[in-house]
Amino acid sequence: MTMDEALYLDDSYKKEFTTVVSSVKDGKFVVLKETAFYPNGGGQPNDTGMIIKDDKEYPVVFVGKFSGEISHEVECEGLSEGDEVSCTVDWKRRHKLMRMHTAAHILSAVFHKQADAKITGNQLGLDKSRIDFSLETFDREKIGNYFALANEWVSKNYPVAVSYMPRIEAEKDTSLFKLAKALPESITTLRIVSIGDIDSQADGGTHVKSTEEVGKITFLKAENKGKSNRRVYFTLL
Ligand SMILES: [Zn+2]
Repeated sequence: MTMDEALYLDDSYKKEFTTVVSSVKDGKFVVLKETAFYPNGGGQPNDTGMIIKDDKEYPVVFVGKFSGEISHEVECEGLSEGDEVSCTVDWKRRHKLMRMHTAAHILSAVFHKQADAKITGNQLGLDKSRIDFSLETFDREKIGNYFALANEWVSKNYPVAVSYMPRIEAEKDTSLFKLAKALPESITTLRIVSIGDIDSQADGGTHVKSTEEVGKITFLKAENKGKSNRRVYFTLL
């Protein structure tokens, strides 16, 4: 799977496309010549939707990346290699996850800037999302202030942009890797998601095009997960 084949990387608003089935495994695991379906990964859940051939619908129940290929698990058998298909991404689900993902980056940037917190993980969801970070002191009032600043940034309607950078160059700037995670050595070009001038991250996820689209980021709860590990849950209004 190259960047050209993963359509969501450069156009996160693409929700319909036509393509050809490249392969089918065990009747239900479908690889397409190109796809706008986001595969589960990087804390962002997979898309769902529909693959349609000759008016017959094949609901997509899971999308994953295996050995570099994006595999779509469909509910019923019947697709085969070479089929011409039209596809639709469940947009209500995807757009919510895009808003959540951009919100998570904004919050990570605030925690990093205000508290020098290191982001250790995140899991986006439709109803709520969480961010894990390391922070010595745990102060609910401060966390409330961080959310206020995050919403201030949202309201400034910063543009969200995608660009690409050679890995060698990107690795000189550690701020691009707030979520410390080892990337396979085979990856030589990194995709960078930038939010105005407040944040730039090496990232493979889908985002909204400007921060106002995120809506209001709401603090739900914070948990202590050990010595300096904090978990913060948020939702969007
Ligand atoms: Zn991300």
